[in-house]
Amino acid sequence: MTREEALKTYFGYEAFRGGQEAVIDEVLSGRDALAIMPTGAGKSVCYQVPALLLPGITLVISPLVSLMRDQVTALVQMGVPAAFLNSSLTFRQYLLALDRARAGRYKIIYVAPERLETEGFRAFAESAEISLVAVDEAHCISQWGQDFRPSYLNIPAFVASLPRRPAVGAFTATATPDVREDIRRLLALETPVEVTTGFNRENLYFEVRQPDSKKAALLELVKSRPGKCGIVYCATRKAVEEVCGFLREQGIAATRYHAGLEAEERGRNQEDFLYDRAVVMVATNAFGMGIDKSDVRYVVHYNMPKDMESYYQEAGRAGRDGLPSSCVLLYGGQDVRTNEFLITHGEVREGLDEAAAERLRERDLQRLRQMTGYCRTRRCLRQHILHYFGEAAPDYCGTCYNCLHNFEEVEVGREAQAIVRCIAETGQHFGVGVVAETLCGADTDRVRKYRMERESSYGALANFTQKAVRERIRFLLDEGILTLSPGQYPVLLLGERAEDIARNGPALYMKTVKEERPAAVGRSADVELDSRQMELFGRLRALRAAIARRQGVPAYVVFSDKTLRELAVRQPGTLQAFREIGGVGDAKARRYGQAFLDEITSVLQ
Ligand code: ADP
Ligand code: ZN
Repeated sequence: MTREEALKTYFGYEAFRGGQEAVIDEVLSGRDALAIMPTGAGKSVCYQVPALLLPGITLVISPLVSLMRDQVTALVQMGVPAAFLNSSLTFRQYLLALDRARAGRYKIIYVAPERLETEGFRAFAESAEISLVAVDEAHCISQWGQDFRPSYLNIPAFVASLPRRPAVGAFTATATPDVREDIRRLLALETPVEVTTGFNRENLYFEVRQPDSKKAALLELVKSRPGKCGIVYCATRKAVEEVCGFLREQGIAATRYHAGLEAEERGRNQEDFLYDRAVVMVATNAFGMGIDKSDVRYVVHYNMPKDMESYYQEAGRAGRDGLPSSCVLLYGGQDVRTNEFLITHGEVREGLDEAAAERLRERDLQRLRQMTGYCRTRRCLRQHILHYFGEAAPDYCGTCYNCLHNFEEVEVGREAQAIVRCIAETGQHFGVGVVAETLCGADTDRVRKYRMERESSYGALANFTQKAVRERIRFLLDEGILTLSPGQYPVLLLGERAEDIARNGPALYMKTVKEERPAAVGRSADVELDSRQMELFGRLRALRAAIARRQGVPAYVVFSDKTLRELAVRQPGTLQAFREIGGVGDAKARRYGQAFLDEITSVLQ
C-alpha cells in the first residue's frame, strides 16, 4: 500500500495537507522528525499513516490519559487496529491488552509517558517490534513550555533501551525557538528533519471586543449560534463557576471544567461536551490539550490569556474540521493587571535560582505585553498573530474583525478635557455610566438622584451619544489618563496625566470604527446550504447521533460535520459515489454507507 492509498482507504481523504508528506516520508525511511504544526493542521495523520505502512507497532506517547480512549475509538472506527494502555484500564484489562499487543493484534498503541517506566511494559517493549515512537505534545518535555511534564524526560532512556532504535517523531503546536531546541536536545532526536507548516488557519475568524458587560457580550455570542458547540475560556476557576452558572440560568446547556473539580466530574463534563450533550464548555486552560472535537464552532476567551502561544493554541481548537469558525476575545483592562499580578507574585518553578526566576518573569511580562498589543491593535489580527510566530503575512486578510471594519483616527482632546473635568468636579465618586449620562445631559433616575444637573459639566458633551462618550472614557482608561477603583462598583479616578489634560486639552488621537460592514465570512469551500440541503444536513446529523449513541462513541468519530455537509450538497446515490466524499474511508463506507444512502433517498423523495 502507498501512503496515498492508506490515506484514502482508512481516513477517506484525497490528498495530504502541507507538511504531512514530508514528515511521513522521512519517518518511513527511519529518520527522526520534529513536526511543528498548528492545532488542526493534521499532526496525527503524520504518524498514523506510517504506522499503517511500517512493520510492527507504533507507540504514541500522549500526555492525557483521558483522551486516549477517544483517539483510539476514532481509529477503530476507521478500521485501524489500535489500543491504549493506561491507568483507566483494570489490571485484568491491561494484561489482556498487553497479551493482544504481544500477539501482534495492534498497529498503534497509545501510552502515557509514566507507563514507559513500568516493568511489565518494558518487558513487552523489549520483545515487541517497535518501528516508530511518536511523541505527541512534545513541548511537554520543555521547562519553557506551558505544560511541562517531568515524565517526558524519561522518553529518551526508554527509546535507548529498545533492542533496535526506532524512528522517533516529535509533534507539537508550540513554535518558540527555545522550546524547539529543548525538544531536539532532551528527546535526543538524531539529525531530525524539521517540518514547520504555516500557522495560518484560514477558516478562523478573529475578533477582539472590549464590551461594557462581558456577560452580555458572551450571551449574545452564544445565542447567535444556537446548537453550535463552543468553548469559553476563563482565567480562574471562580470565573468558570460564575460564567457557567450564568449561561445555565439563561437556558444554555453549558458545562464546566477546571482543576478544582473531582476527576470524576471533570471526566463526565468533558464527555458531555464531546458527545454533544452540552453545547458550551466553560473551562480554564486545564481543558483542551489533545481535545480532538473537530466541530467546535467558536472559542470565546472571557479573559485575556497570558501570552499569544496560549491564545492561539486555545483559539485554534475552533474549526479543526476546516469549516468557518470564530475566535472572539473579550478584553478588559483588568485582564492585564490580573496577569501582571500572577506573573510577579506567581509561584517560582521548582529548582530555579533567583536569577533564572527573574529572567522567566521578564520574559513572561514581555509576552504579556505582546498579548495586550494584540487586543489593542486596529490592524489585521491575523497578520498580528502570524508575525508573532515569525511568519510573513499581508496586512489585509479580509476575514478578521479589523479587516472587515474600517477604522479612523479622531481627535478627542476636547472631549477628554470635558470627561476629566466632570470626574474632578464630582469628586471621583462615580462609575462610567453616571459620568457618561451626566456629560450627555441625560435625564435618568441616577442623574436626578445625585443632582448631576447642577454640575457645570452636565450636558458638556450633549452632541455625542452615550456610546461615543463611553468609548472615549475607555480610551482614556487604556491610556492611563483615568483609572478604575477596584471592587464591585468601580468608580472613575483621575490618573497621572489627568491634570495636564484638564488644563490645556492637548490633541489626543483615538482609533474608532468608521462604518460597519456585514461580515463576509463564507468562502468557496463553504457554500451556504439552501433550505433543502439544510434539512438533509439536519437529518444526517440525527442519523449520526443515533448511530453514535448506539455504539457509545462521540458523534464526530462517526463522521465530521464537514463530511455531512458534503453529503448534503452532493447527495450521492450509490456506494461508489458515497466513497468519494471527504472523510469516508473503506471501513466507514462499509459500516454506515447504506444507512446514510437510505436516509438521503428518503429525504429527497
Ligand atoms: P492536530 O493534531 O494537528 O491538531 P488532527 O490530527 O486532529 O490535528 O487533524 C485535524 C483534522 O484534520 C482532523 O479532523 C483530521 O481528520 C483532518 N485531516 C488531517 N489530515 C487531513 C487531510 N490530508 N485531508 C483532510 N483532512 C485531514
Ligand atoms: Zn485581517
